[in-house]
Amino acid sequence: MKGSKKVIALIAHDNKKQEIIDWAKANRQLLAGYELCGTGHTSRMVAEATGLEVTSFLSGPLGGDQQIGAHIAEGKIDMVVFFWDPLTAQPHDPDVKALLRIAVVYDIPIATNKATADCIIRK
Ligand code: PGA
Repeated sequence: MKGSKKVIALIAHDNKKQEIIDWAKANRQLLAGYELCGTGHTSRMVAEATGLEVTSFLSGPLGGDQQIGAHIAEGKIDMVVFFWDPLTAQPHDPDVKALLRIAVVYDIPIATNKATADCIIRK
């Protein structure tokens, strides 16, 4: 990962999967200009829905959020679209917080809803 294109990481909690799929389909053409990666299930669902290549990390609860955090720290991810679920407790809540934190530490744009995601992919 990390060729000439900017890299976007995609993550959505289960109740937000349909939202990120709809968003990715609606923005397929713009997203084709980026290198994409994401947590396990999210990446596979977006790849299937859009036909775009999406590099898969582990599933979020199994360490995928931490993998993405590590890639941010290493300068390998330029922005994050993270549709987290504000209404459901997550078993990996510490990882979710850590990811939000590391994105702020490295000043990486992290869109946590559709309106912000639209803003960050329109250069
Ligand atoms: P998933 O992980 O894409 O593997 O479902 C997302 C998450 O819950 O962090």
